[in-house]
Amino acid sequence: MAYVIAEPCINTKDTACVDACPVDCIHPRKDEPGYESVELLYIDPVECIDCGACVPVCPVSAIFTLDDLPEKWSEYAQINADYFQK
Ligand code: SF4
Repeated sequence: MAYVIAEPCINTKDTACVDACPVDCIHPRKDEPGYESVELLYIDPVECIDCGACVPVCPVSAIFTLDDLPEKWSEYAQINADYFQK
């Protein structure tokens, strides 16, 4: 079960989570081409090792386990996964 980035990340895109992630599964990074155009950052559900390191560093508390993802943001699980289908 992967972690999911939800709505609070929109227009925040802080990237502290990117630096905290030990497996580099949060994208786009600031140095990647898509960074400026995306609304939020995304966690690759295949690569995420469920370590939780990204959660406390997020300044807007946008990252949740799938179990704790608020119902109003439930679509973000698919939104995160879809980013990596391109
Ligand atoms: Fe990366 Fe760990 Fe967060 Fe998954 S839970 S996105 S592996 S920091």
